Amino acid sequence: MPLLEIKDMTVGYGRIEALHGISLTVEQGELVTLIGANGAGKTTTMRAISGIRPLSRGSIIFDGQDITKMKPHVRVTEGIIQAPEGRGVFPGMTVQENLDMGHYGRKFPSKAEYNQTLEKVYGLFPRLAERRTQMGGTMSGGEQQMVAIGRALMARPRVLLLDEPSMGLAPMIIQQIFRIISDINAEGTTILLVEQNAQQALSRSHRAYILETGEVVKTGPGKELLADPAIKEAYLGVA
Ligand code: ATP
Repeated sequence: MPLLEIKDMTVGYGRIEALHGISLTVEQGELVTLIGANGAGKTTTMRAISGIRPLSRGSIIFDGQDITKMKPHVRVTEGIIQAPEGRGVFPGMTVQENLDMGHYGRKFPSKAEYNQTLEKVYGLFPRLAERRTQMGGTMSGGEQQMVAIGRALMARPRVLLLDEPSMGLAPMIIQQIFRIISDINAEGTTILLVEQNAQQALSRSHRAYILETGEVVKTGPGKELLADPAIKEAYLGVA
């Protein structure tokens, strides 16, 4: 049984239908990527999984439970955690305080587990460990992305939703962020990633879905899609 299963999901904004019945699955432990051009419906898919956008048709099953109608904050307590869009770091709070915000929706059973997770996050992001007391707003773009991902990890995600974590970052930082995403997944966190950086995302994903104007047009192992001539041409800038 997949950890997350989306069946025939249709989502719209008013009368505009953004997703026309998409289906996808994420297995426990997988890193799955959603690739698509601007406006394909990637963010809408993430919003529907977080519960911010309602479905007009179809269903979302998480760990065997139908969560289609579940409120967003309840999904958080179930472990469906999205790193905030546009990073969403609190500028007037320190790095440490920002990370702490992550666990409020999904509290730790013990102080020991809190400490353990915090150390794990600082282990993944040594840069954040060096800057625990620096204000979030003064961190660089790449560092803020690290804070956002670190904060999501503090909620102990059972599935981590990442919406374009590489957006607006310099190539060297992008490499670093993708390496960390692979590490987080290798340590056992299931991840659904939305990315425009198809090269990096596909090479690191177990599987991927290609979304075009609200429909899944192709799916397969990341490396297979990376070698697909049509995908190379459309998403990798190779003719
Ligand atoms: P991008 O890579 O540009 O962020 P995306 O694949 O994430 O694109 P979505 O943001 O999911 O695409 O948008 C899918 C469609 O839904 C687009 O046609 C978009 O214009 C439309 N849409 C998104 N948000 C709204 C909204 N709040 N109101 C009306 N239409 C919207």
